[in-house]
Amino acid sequence: MKILVINCGSSSLKYQLINMEDESVICKGICERIGIEGSFIKHEANDGKWTVEVPFPTHTEAFAKVVEMMTTGEGKVIDDVKEVSAIGHRVAHGAESFKESTLVDDEVIAEIGRLGAIAPLHNPAHVLGLNSAKAVFGADVPNVVVFDTVFHATMPRKAYMYAVPYEWYEDHKVRRYGFHGTSHKFVSLTAAEFLGKKPEELKIVTCHLGNGSSIAAVDGGKVVDTSMGFSPLAGLLMGTRSGDVDPSVVSFIAEKTGMNGTELSQYLNKKCGFLGVSGVSSDCRDLEIAAGEGNDRAALTLEMLVYQIQKFIGSYTAAMNGLDCIVFTGGIGENSASTRAKVCEGLGWFGVEIDAEQNSKRGLAVNDITGANGKVKVLVVQTNEELMIARDTKRVAFGE
Ligand code: AMP
Repeated sequence: MKILVINCGSSSLKYQLINMEDESVICKGICERIGIEGSFIKHEANDGKWTVEVPFPTHTEAFAKVVEMMTTGEGKVIDDVKEVSAIGHRVAHGAESFKESTLVDDEVIAEIGRLGAIAPLHNPAHVLGLNSAKAVFGADVPNVVVFDTVFHATMPRKAYMYAVPYEWYEDHKVRRYGFHGTSHKFVSLTAAEFLGKKPEELKIVTCHLGNGSSIAAVDGGKVVDTSMGFSPLAGLLMGTRSGDVDPSVVSFIAEKTGMNGTELSQYLNKKCGFLGVSGVSSDCRDLEIAAGEGNDRAALTLEMLVYQIQKFIGSYTAAMNGLDCIVFTGGIGENSASTRAKVCEGLGWFGVEIDAEQNSKRGLAVNDITGANGKVKVLVVQTNEELMIARDTKRVAFGE
């Protein structure tokens, strides 16, 4: 069985065709600049890579080109599009309307579109992708939507409510949702399997640290709290996102600068975090180099990152009344040995200790970096959101 995994942005379409027999990637690629001049597709298959410039007025033309690349030429991997058994779509926001990955019908697409009111940057693009997939692949191929929010849908209300008028929640859906759910799910399940335990037996803190970062408390396989909130702006400082800020700063800066709400929101999303504090870069590698060369603001940014991660791990240990395992994942979590070491150094009281040599290793699907006297397992797990989407798609479409 072959499953096509799709991630549509407003001007891009990422795809991966996965062979579910051995969960290997058959081909992958991206269409970029959809609806903009200079659009192109990058396709990787059969150990080759191709970049082809093609006009993509809409996502439908992009999907048609993906099919063409998969079925013809040197990058061909299937004879007929009918070999694609199902399509799994990553969708950013399911709010309270979707508590599970869901088979797509017209009403599902309409609801994802309505949720564009609270996810304007993402959900409208997903609707374009879903309609284009239907147009290009036909009605017989099942489409499944897999939401970034769903794994967090188990949070109790004391964790997801904000202390604002209850009507904001009832009338405007204002609450914590959490994101990166597919990654938190994948790495927590992988960790449980690696440890030879059922998810129900474990209290895990999963740290997804990348350009966007979030941390989740996963108690018995269910998320009980997470650091991102109503939007992916909340929680830890990130590449360009501020993370948590006292809300009164926003109105204060609005008065000082004359920026309006939309401008401030863009600022908090694009000009803050690593970039804003360091003035160097939004990229953790650049910060590590700059800090090594004596740049004090880069060093401060990394100190803030480590401190904030430690505080989340500490508070989530309290939230779960225990901690069996910490998982690091995402570009920073998987690759920055120094970030992992510094975070864990400050958690000795919790029984966290890591093995320095093991921590320096890279590229393992799961790396157990727990020290000899560590009471809490510390794992580095390579996330694979596409595979998680493919597995969910298979389960929802075929009940397997
Ligand atoms: P992601 O969004 O998951 O792709 O992660 C991107 C982030 O991972 C960027 O901040 C990168 O600088 C960071 N990253 C990738 N490789 C390394 C590395 N070897 N050391 C430190 N940070 C890294």
